[in-house]
Amino acid sequence: MIIVTKKSSKDEDVERLKQKIEELGLKAHISKGSRRTIIGVIGDIDKKIEKIDPVAVFSLDKAVDSVHRVSKPYKLASRENKDYDTIIDVKGIKIGGENFTMMAGPCSVENREQMLTTATGIKKCSAHILRGGAFKPRTSPYTFQGLGEEGLKLLKEAGEKTNMPIVTEVMNPKDLDVVLKYADILQIGARNIQNFSLLKLVGQTDKPVLLKRGMATTIQEFLMSAEYVMSEGNADVILCERGIRTFETATRNTLDISAVPVLKKETHLPVIIDPSHAAGKREYVPALARAAIAAGADGLLIEVHYNPAIAVSDAAQQLTIEEFCELMEDIKKIAAVVGKVIQ
Ligand code: PEP
Ligand code: MN
Repeated sequence: MIIVTKKSSKDEDVERLKQKIEELGLKAHISKGSRRTIIGVIGDIDKKIEKIDPVAVFSLDKAVDSVHRVSKPYKLASRENKDYDTIIDVKGIKIGGENFTMMAGPCSVENREQMLTTATGIKKCSAHILRGGAFKPRTSPYTFQGLGEEGLKLLKEAGEKTNMPIVTEVMNPKDLDVVLKYADILQIGARNIQNFSLLKLVGQTDKPVLLKRGMATTIQEFLMSAEYVMSEGNADVILCERGIRTFETATRNTLDISAVPVLKKETHLPVIIDPSHAAGKREYVPALARAAIAAGADGLLIEVHYNPAIAVSDAAQQLTIEEFCELMEDIKKIAAVVGKVIQ
């Protein structure tokens, strides 16, 4: 249930409503907009208030403008809860709203030279945020698993030298503390999309969370995972579509481009596309990236390596720096047409 306060409502009114909600054994999520406050009531209200209409209970309060039953199972993530786009600020880089944000970098952090050369190259072509995996979710236990904390240090060093915030995956709750020491954005990988204990833990941090859709996750399940993070108090969730499993084998996954307009309708959270893990082959990445911005995405997450031929993971899908720079030229042109701003 969502409670919308009157424009004239004061802080003490919101506090009174919050107390009333908590006395019922429910949780209140307060979202203070510039003109009104929206209170999300979390918990099963029908179980808590028997025989009385919960909408009526709150509608009678003098500070309440309207009360809405949220029909969606996700409440905090829903546009019904918040009708304006969430804009997440990461060290001055804005994600969401009219902004189009480029996140790029190698699949895995491999060494200092690789990180610095790649970061410097992509920064020159307007990349905003540097990516790189230090804890890698690999299908085979015998392949490169990531450099761990050493990799986080190299990623941070490259981010600082090129003045870019960094995004990196946290795979295991036991690694969260070390990742928190370095990362500006916590990435939850496709394979962990329904690792609810991990989602709750990142929901208790103050770092934005980049949530990747699982390869067999419906949009509703995806949004419920975002809800897990948000219900712990962290509202800064970035959704990332990265391709889903279909019968098609020409590409590694099938980019679900329709997820962009569907998510944009359903949620106020920023939506970005990872065309690299969707395509699995570098030659298809630019077309998918162009489609993403044209469809209304808020940004891209692209794998780039200064020399993909020697990459230790996902060599086939990483763009060269030159390819990334060429793609950026197209992205800028499409941004102008669809009304997106590249910082
Ligand atoms: C990644 O971005 O490094 C990654 C492993 O992607 P995904 O979780 O989408 O497979
Ligand atoms: Mn990868």
